[in-house]
Amino acid sequence: MKRSFIEVGSESHFPIQNLPYGVFRPRSGGTPRIGVAIGDFVLDLAVVDDAGHFSGTAVAGKGVFHQSSLNAFMALGRTIWRDVRAQIQHLLSEDEPTLRDITTLRNAALLHQSDVELLLPVQIGDYTDFYASKEHATNVGIMFRGKENALMPNWTHLPVGYHGRASSIVLSGTDVRRPQGQMKPADATAPLFGPCRQLDFELEMGWLIGPGNKLGQPISVEHAEEHIFGLVLVNDWSARDIQAWEYQPLGPFLAKNFTTSMSPWVIPLEALEPFRTDGPKQDPEPLPYLRMPGAGTFDIHLEVYLQGEGMEMAQRISASNFRYLYWSMAQQIAHHTVGGCNLRPGDLLASGTISGSEKETRGSLMELAWRGAEPLHLENGEQRVWLEDGDQVTMTGWCQGEGYRIGFGEVTGRVLPAFE
Ligand code: CA
Repeated sequence: MKRSFIEVGSESHFPIQNLPYGVFRPRSGGTPRIGVAIGDFVLDLAVVDDAGHFSGTAVAGKGVFHQSSLNAFMALGRTIWRDVRAQIQHLLSEDEPTLRDITTLRNAALLHQSDVELLLPVQIGDYTDFYASKEHATNVGIMFRGKENALMPNWTHLPVGYHGRASSIVLSGTDVRRPQGQMKPADATAPLFGPCRQLDFELEMGWLIGPGNKLGQPISVEHAEEHIFGLVLVNDWSARDIQAWEYQPLGPFLAKNFTTSMSPWVIPLEALEPFRTDGPKQDPEPLPYLRMPGAGTFDIHLEVYLQGEGMEMAQRISASNFRYLYWSMAQQIAHHTVGGCNLRPGDLLASGTISGSEKETRGSLMELAWRGAEPLHLENGEQRVWLEDGDQVTMTGWCQGEGYRIGFGEVTGRVLPAFE
């Protein structure tokens, strides 16, 4: 097994097999730049480039790592990403002396994670949110329309999605303001205005687009993964009462556009390859433009934790898996572009809530508490039906290898009272 000269525990999210990209600023000062996580450290790629250690790759001396976003690097494509990743892996490996033994370079290039401030890693131009979990779509359908009409007739034929809002995507750790809006409770004769009463989280994963496509030129399902730079954790906060009143006929609007949180480290698709697996069997067989050869998903274990103000510790309330999703990333990209829509470097596509078939695998509070019918019991005696002010929701995930983990770090956020 490949090892780094930097000590990395077997449960660390960031071994040498992972090497996720992020944007950071040293707390000691300086401009934002690009780094990769390794154990408890960050390797400053701008310093590595300045020292000439990317010579032989197409990025050498181009300044792509001296930037406040990953967009320029993401636009370069898989061949260059692979070269850069191989060189970083080489520089960090246990038997390579360059970084390990040259103290000045090592001290300049390797910063402890506590000595850096992580920033939103991507300038996101467009954000698209899908609805790719059959279990989630079925659960929501049962709650809103009853068992007979749970799944809409289109659902098994195309990956349902909508265009979301990029401006309100925030980095993990940012507080989330409870939204206000219109809602119409079942017993009310007229809509009322006020703070959302049914605030929820959604356990999702997002993937960031590298090279895009030209307007009018679809991306085929076979080539779709070449456009994926990497994956992040996403919490797509949702206002269920606002959504229930506003969503017809054009879909969610204020219910989803107030905040979406994402994790700071972007996990390269290449790091996930050992965990590639088949998704659920698709029945009926999709139309030809959505038929995907080979295994199209990854075995990524996912967890959700809740900590209320009165709780000493966060409590795990859900455990799901990325592989439960019915539609693959490639199918979602193919569908997104088949009408000619162009994707651009830095676009974020998210999966929709990831629920499995068991109750404890449900990826939203609405499903866990069944829209209030089955309150969630917390260890300190409290209950939850919806999120309360002060609640902190944390999502994490990893692929479990033999003696190592490809981790995603976490995405966390705390609910603040509505704006007065
Ligand atoms: Ca969503």
